[in-house]
Amino acid sequence: MKVVVVGGVAAGASAAARARRLNESAEIVLLERGRFVSFANCGLPYHIGGEIPERESLLLQTPESLAASLNLDVRTGHEVLSIDTDAKEVEVRDLLADATYRESYDKLVLCPGADPIRPPIPGADLECVDVLRNVPDMDRIIEKIDAGATRALIVGGSAIGLELAEGFRAKDLETIVVEMGDRIMPWLGREMTRILHFHVELHGVDVRLSTSATSIREEDGRIVVDLSDGTSLEVDIVVLAAGVRPNVSLARAAGIEIGPRGGIVVDPQMRTSAPDVLAAGDAVETPHFHTGEPVLSMLAGPANRQGRIVADTIFGRDSAYRGTQGTGIVKIFDMTAGGTGMTETDLIRHGIEFRKVYTHQNGHAEYYPGTAPLTIKALFSPDDGALLGAQVLGWDGVDKRIDVLSVALQAGMTVYDLEHLELGYAPPYGSAKDPVNMIGFQASNLLAGDLDLWYAEDYPTCADSVTILDVRTPVEYDHWHVAEAINIPYTELRARLDEIPKDRPVYTYCRSGFRSYIAYRVLKQSGFDDAASLSGGMITFHGFHRTPLKVGEGGRPVVTYAEDILAQRPGVLEHI
Ligand code: FAD
Repeated sequence: MKVVVVGGVAAGASAAARARRLNESAEIVLLERGRFVSFANCGLPYHIGGEIPERESLLLQTPESLAASLNLDVRTGHEVLSIDTDAKEVEVRDLLADATYRESYDKLVLCPGADPIRPPIPGADLECVDVLRNVPDMDRIIEKIDAGATRALIVGGSAIGLELAEGFRAKDLETIVVEMGDRIMPWLGREMTRILHFHVELHGVDVRLSTSATSIREEDGRIVVDLSDGTSLEVDIVVLAAGVRPNVSLARAAGIEIGPRGGIVVDPQMRTSAPDVLAAGDAVETPHFHTGEPVLSMLAGPANRQGRIVADTIFGRDSAYRGTQGTGIVKIFDMTAGGTGMTETDLIRHGIEFRKVYTHQNGHAEYYPGTAPLTIKALFSPDDGALLGAQVLGWDGVDKRIDVLSVALQAGMTVYDLEHLELGYAPPYGSAKDPVNMIGFQASNLLAGDLDLWYAEDYPTCADSVTILDVRTPVEYDHWHVAEAINIPYTELRARLDEIPKDRPVYTYCRSGFRSYIAYRVLKQSGFDDAASLSGGMITFHGFHRTPLKVGEGGRPVVTYAEDILAQRPGVLEHI
């Protein structure tokens, strides 16, 4: 058996390595047009910022190490130019020797990844305009910083753009991010991305939303970028981080089926439409775990797992890709954001009914140092409570929660199951009632009818027809309150019910949602049938309507049952 793999990074290297482990006698040729194989592209932004000090740590393997450990025939600087599926051969160019040759295969594996999108604007192809996909791209950017660059523009405000912004700020560069959409990180909910946005600004990044670069040119050794808002910027570095597109030119030219999302079509065994040709990684499209719709994943985890399935299929193992769930996580300065499954926007677009809850606990026990509020948003079915998607934003413990929720989602769990998860707890790591359990408690209360919620996006429309009741302490109320709100602290509510109009709904709120839930329960059991508690309290409210609170700073931990006392401490009212 002769296996030829095109592309030697995540999916390609994974397929080749597994192929060898499954079959010691196969001939395995790995063709990579770049100079490096199996390098850590996810680490590139961190070497630019200096957090990963050694360049060599990104270069996980070399052709020699792969030959020694796995007996792979790795050829870097070898670009596959075309595929002849009838003759079962590929045409290869040896870029160093400037020579072309043909290589036969029994099984061909396409893992050519994706190419950064260069928007169709004048100057996007100039040599001075950078992208960040591989080691030479990174080296070029570092060279410019070392040569004295002081100002950088990043086009695109999603994960790679913002990781890069962090790296540039670490190098003291004035950093501007322009984002065509109306929010950064569009794979998260709007309210989550806004809090993240405030955090990015806090670190000195100039983020300009609904703005795009319209042309780029070189003038007197600097780069001038015209923006859609009519302004121009003079900078030393421009990086296009405006997304990537599956690299399917080889497959398309060979007549292999390309799907509606522009990726190579594969079946669950990662077989393409051509006999004996398989594919994996950023270049393929796969069904979404929940909707079954074809999606592009563009993440390293799916690429590696798909590579493994490719080898299993070639060597007769029963293995199948289960679909793409869209689990992602990103560190942006001091905060971490993660998401899994469907977002609210996805659910609305697909017409899928859902309910949602927000909780704000801490990454770990508040009395153990080093924690801060952790926001979880969970989306679930109103019928059976099945989890549909979740997002987590905070400072510590985000990775753990998103992974637990991701597993729960894949296992088909409901919010009722989340109540019962037995999760590891000691003060430095969590709480006896973990934030994931809390999501389960709150969502179950909602579905059981023990809780009615109102949402920050209902405001200000709701203000004319409801009584908005702020149940925090007067100190908190005086610091800031929803304009139309009246203040009755929840501890005084039972004695002051006659102050609340009975002819309209009562919407309660507090800082995190806990005190307003207690107030809601008092109201419901005191004849106020139409009452609701603000989901996520003021902290979530910030994501929709900015308030004077400092968002995006690691404020004091939340202690929901003691918020009245904590509110008296200096500085607490300043932060979310
Ligand atoms: P690649 O890793 O891109 O490998 C494809 C290879 O194929 C390339 O080396 C290319 O040179 C080669 N090739 C293409 N055409 C040919 C040809 N004709 N002949 C020979 N060789 C060819 N994902 C995450 O999950 N988490 C992260 O934190 C994360 N961070 C990232 C940060 C950066 C800066 C970048 C660029 C990506 C990041 N990703 C992250 C995405 C992740 O790296 C990709 O999803 C993953 O590498 C895809 O693997 P792949 O094998 O499909 O493609």
